[in-house]
Amino acid sequence: MSEQRRLEHILRKMTLDEKIAQLQQLAAPFYDEAGDDGQITGPMESLGITAETVTNAGSVLGVAGAEKVISVQRTHMANNRHGIPLLFMADIVHGFKTIFPIPLAMGCSWDLELAERSAEIAAKEAAVSGLHVTFAPMADLVRDPRWGRVMESTGEDPYLNALFARAMVRGFQGTDLKNDTGRVASCVKHFAAYGLAEGGREYNTVDLSERQLREYYLPAYKAALDEGAEMVMTSFNTVEGIPASGNVKLMRDLLRGEWGFDGVVISDWAAIGELIAHGVAEDDREAALKAIHAGVDIDMMTSAYVLELARLVSDGLVDESLIDEAVLRILRLKEKLGLFENPLRGADPEAEREVVYCKEHLEAAKELAVKSCVLLKNEGALPLRQGQRIALIGPFVQSGDILGNWSWTGSRETAVRLGTAMEALGGSGLVVAEGCGIHDITELQLEEALNAAGEADVIVLALGEASEMSGEAASRTNIKLPDAQLKLVQSMKRLGKPMVAVLFNGRPLDLHGIYEEADAVLEAWFPGSAGGAAIADLLYGVANPSGRLTMSFPTTVGQIPVYYNHFNTGRPKPAEDTEEKYVSHYLDSPNAPLFPFGYGLSYSSFSYGELALSSASLKAGQTLQAKVRVSNDGSMAGTETVQLYIRDVSGEVVRPVKELKDFRQVMLAPGESAEVAFEITEAQLRYHHSDLSFTSDAGKFELHVGGNSRDTLQSVFRLEQ
Ligand code: BGC
Repeated sequence: MSEQRRLEHILRKMTLDEKIAQLQQLAAPFYDEAGDDGQITGPMESLGITAETVTNAGSVLGVAGAEKVISVQRTHMANNRHGIPLLFMADIVHGFKTIFPIPLAMGCSWDLELAERSAEIAAKEAAVSGLHVTFAPMADLVRDPRWGRVMESTGEDPYLNALFARAMVRGFQGTDLKNDTGRVASCVKHFAAYGLAEGGREYNTVDLSERQLREYYLPAYKAALDEGAEMVMTSFNTVEGIPASGNVKLMRDLLRGEWGFDGVVISDWAAIGELIAHGVAEDDREAALKAIHAGVDIDMMTSAYVLELARLVSDGLVDESLIDEAVLRILRLKEKLGLFENPLRGADPEAEREVVYCKEHLEAAKELAVKSCVLLKNEGALPLRQGQRIALIGPFVQSGDILGNWSWTGSRETAVRLGTAMEALGGSGLVVAEGCGIHDITELQLEEALNAAGEADVIVLALGEASEMSGEAASRTNIKLPDAQLKLVQSMKRLGKPMVAVLFNGRPLDLHGIYEEADAVLEAWFPGSAGGAAIADLLYGVANPSGRLTMSFPTTVGQIPVYYNHFNTGRPKPAEDTEEKYVSHYLDSPNAPLFPFGYGLSYSSFSYGELALSSASLKAGQTLQAKVRVSNDGSMAGTETVQLYIRDVSGEVVRPVKELKDFRQVMLAPGESAEVAFEITEAQLRYHHSDLSFTSDAGKFELHVGGNSRDTLQSVFRLEQ
């Protein structure tokens, strides 16, 4: 019997209640600790989930650990009369036990291979611990650093986000989910446009034109699906006034219809029930009705489906075929993961002890952390030199809180701390002091810090946000560092010594109070398990910073949203100073961000030769070559990220002032140079027109190449049609 027929056969034998239970996701603890006496406890009990639903449920959220998963799955298989295994799902966002830098940091590496490797390692560790599905990658495009969840995204660019989404899916899933039990299925989230939440306020309204949705917000989700992501999670927000989890146009018409996605759709946490609070459903019954019609297969953390769907079917409001389709999709995913033959899949307590947090994984985490840090400013204070006396001060010196949010499976205790790693490299020349807490500073702390700094040649401040200050439900209106830390900076500044700031945070910050004061600023984000070692290498010049921002740093919070691929106005502010009043500007701030997309310094300096085009025009079906010679004029080997941007000078609708189309990373020895070549094709010039057609326009284009989105060499060409 073919697999499909086998699954259909199981489906035919299932009662309606059993089928509906497949659509329910359970969250631990759903049995009492004894495990199999049918006693329901915890959140499931309060949702009114019965023992019978548990026996027939389709999936579980958040249970990990090989022994636990094995025991729950065995109990389940013994009780489920159809022999349908449970799917175990969890958020493995940037590592399982070995924690990698947060996704926003990973984006700044521009290193797709390493991103893929990080996902592969996360999958391997999660799979031996019994997980089958990860709720990642998050492919939401982000432009508002007030929103706490920007840390979970790779940034503000649709093209780069799409490349990272693909790399992550490849890493999680591999090419043979069934036989490669060290991989997990990937659930791309949050569909759709969650990153555009109004005012950066969590769970908030999103309203945008369909053209904008397709042009900027959808490409990364689509890329993940093109790469084969098995699942999609809905988002909490509304799109055009309709919450995603009940949005037929978005889920049923676009995702399932136009894109042909036939995998499993899961609601976000309680999002079906939230249709009521949004104001598009009166009660669970109406919420369930809307969600199933929109094409949501699994109900995460409400019980609207199990409580209401059967009656909706008997009342003729829901066709049973809708439920059958949803169940079949879930069974198919179980089949793809090989769970029918092997319900325990990769769960293996012994392998778990060896694989998880092993040396090889930690080395990969360190490599990615090195590549994720972005040197924002350096007036000669870095790299530190052997023999210098260093005062290392701040709340992050000996903190294990460097994993960042969404690292629930990792251990802060074992994270490599900055102080420890600096001591290993810098030896006896290092004195440390806490200086202040994240939010508080005492006189004693300040005094100790001043004493430590008094003896030193260089002050290194380790500052930042606590990890729970970014992530879900962690929006901020003030995105500066807390006052206590700014006070520490001021006090240290008065000593008149070279001062370096190392920043641990989950969002682009407003750097007033740090940027001007410090001689060097290294953005370390939340660098993960090996973070301290990576940063120590960068500070001491054992490694050369190469990270480039994938989200703009605002000059001030009042500019937000500020992003590189914006439109021009009819009155753009000229680059040179102008007395003209009626141009687009603020009275008290530049329009431009402090640090633009693509920006980042190195201990080397790179120079660019002439930008040469193979022709002044391009025709469909042909390619145009752009070449530039890039040289390392510094005295240290370093990596330059050469970025190619294009602007359509005269579109049918206004086109962004620059759009990233390609990039190359070149590693150059001191004095070395390399020719970097890009091939430009008509396909790269296509965009969504006012009628939503995805085509290009004949005419003039600007081509920009450079080391960031602001400072570029420019040339022009024409597209002939
Ligand atoms: C988050 C999702 C996450 C889910 C399950 C929700 O609150 O929005 O990103 O996957 O919880 O943990």
